[in-house]
Amino acid sequence: MTLPEMEERVTSLGQPRYRAEQIFKWVYKHGIDDFAAMSNLPHAFQQQLAEKGFATGVLTEEGAQEAADGTKKYYFRLPDGLHVESVYIPEERRKTVCFSTQVGCAIGCAFCATGQQGFVRNLSVAEIVDQVRTIGLERRTRITHAVAMGQGEPLVNYEATLKAIKLMNADYGLGIAARHLTISTSGMVPAIYRLAEEDIQLNLAISLHATRDQIRSELIPLNRTYPLSVLIEAARSYAARTKRRVTLEYIMIDGVNDGDEDLEGLLTLTTGWLSHVNLIPYNPVPGVDYQPSAPATLRRFFQTLQRHNVAVSIRQERGAEIEAACGQLRQRLKLMEKR
Ligand code: SAH
Ligand code: SF4
Repeated sequence: MTLPEMEERVTSLGQPRYRAEQIFKWVYKHGIDDFAAMSNLPHAFQQQLAEKGFATGVLTEEGAQEAADGTKKYYFRLPDGLHVESVYIPEERRKTVCFSTQVGCAIGCAFCATGQQGFVRNLSVAEIVDQVRTIGLERRTRITHAVAMGQGEPLVNYEATLKAIKLMNADYGLGIAARHLTISTSGMVPAIYRLAEEDIQLNLAISLHATRDQIRSELIPLNRTYPLSVLIEAARSYAARTKRRVTLEYIMIDGVNDGDEDLEGLLTLTTGWLSHVNLIPYNPVPGVDYQPSAPATLRRFFQTLQRHNVAVSIRQERGAEIEAACGQLRQRLKLMEKR
């Protein structure tokens, strides 16, 4: 719930409006989920909340793995027994959580571990926002950045993702600056237009990965529905409308999208609008044939783009040894069933 929704709920239960803010403080600032421990609430109200089946925290940590660089991957159990993974990525000044928006993913990208496992269900608002909250509490740190780059396609689960993002952003919620919140999409074009109309300054990242339709459709089947021309038009329109730089994510896969033609394509696609290319070394996924491009190829892409004044960066992959890097998250339950 948002604060106004909670206010409505507590007043309908016969309580003064300010109780909502008290509950929010317990949940988001102190990490308390047990109503009985919310000491400034009247005892009868605490009991009423519990009896009516209200709940705050919805995730149970069932395990975690920590890499040498501090990157930590969490396995969370959802109330219905399914699982999702989230990743904590500490840097000197930023503390980022990479969160999931669905169990599995229906888009089925050829290179992605999540995509190999199909779609199970959307996550609820609570299940999304609680990944970020729980990790901040467990790490005893203020999370400064959150990115929807875990399992699932956030713009397919649009309503829940947006509401969760608003709760991450709200002062009464997690208080993460909107410009530190990022949604990554494989190219849900209608939802990109819709997002541009939202009154929130979040970052949009588009999983480009190819500059020719034939290759992109092989990698991302959704490209057959929304091909490159339509997608780039939507991205340009988002940038124009929000005045925010759109990130174009580009996984570098050996012999697939790392040739001269592809580099040319990138130069053309990025001309004349507010974009930024993020080159990503491909993370190998078991059972998938793709391999990362040679480091020299990655460098050549980077240097050529830079020389042509295209804003470009190389993503530092974190936590690969615990399979916590982009595209390596999978659906645990299915894995366990297989064993
Ligand atoms: N579904 C959304 C967000 C989750 S994936 C999307 O596709 O954009 C987050 C990012 O990781 C995307 O850019 C995705 O293409 C990328 N990715 C997926 N598998 C990968 C892999 N094996 N190596 C590197 N990046 C990968
Ligand atoms: Fe889904 Fe994104 Fe993976 Fe594609 S890359 S299968 S859209 S999670």
